[in-house]
Amino acid sequence: MPGMAHGRAAHNTYLVPNTPQPPSDIEQIAQQLEAERLSRQQLLDQHTTLQADRDRLAQLVAADECIICCTESKDMVFVPCGHLCLCHVCADVIVADTNRCPTC
Ligand SMILES: [Zn+2]
Ligand SMILES: [Zn+2]
Repeated sequence: MPGMAHGRAAHNTYLVPNTPQPPSDIEQIAQQLEAERLSRQQLLDQHTTLQADRDRLAQLVAADECIICCTESKDMVFVPCGHLCLCHVCADVIVADTNRCPTC
């Protein structure tokens, strides 16, 4: 089949190998997917940052607020476990109710 070879096929025709182009919509979809992947990654990064902030905040708050009412400072230590987790108001209630440390 001499006509199929690329090269000069006729005196005014140049036959080149036929390189199929991907349909443009597939390329568009690929670009959209890539853009979506990037924005999702950004959201994920933001989410991770927010979560880290929230954890840090929670730790700060948890460090000195009563675990029951979350408004008073922890000022009662349970003996013998040594847990400092309640304010005196909640400690009275908890101890009267359960007679044990809520953290244990
Ligand atoms: Zn309390
Ligand atoms: Zn305890």
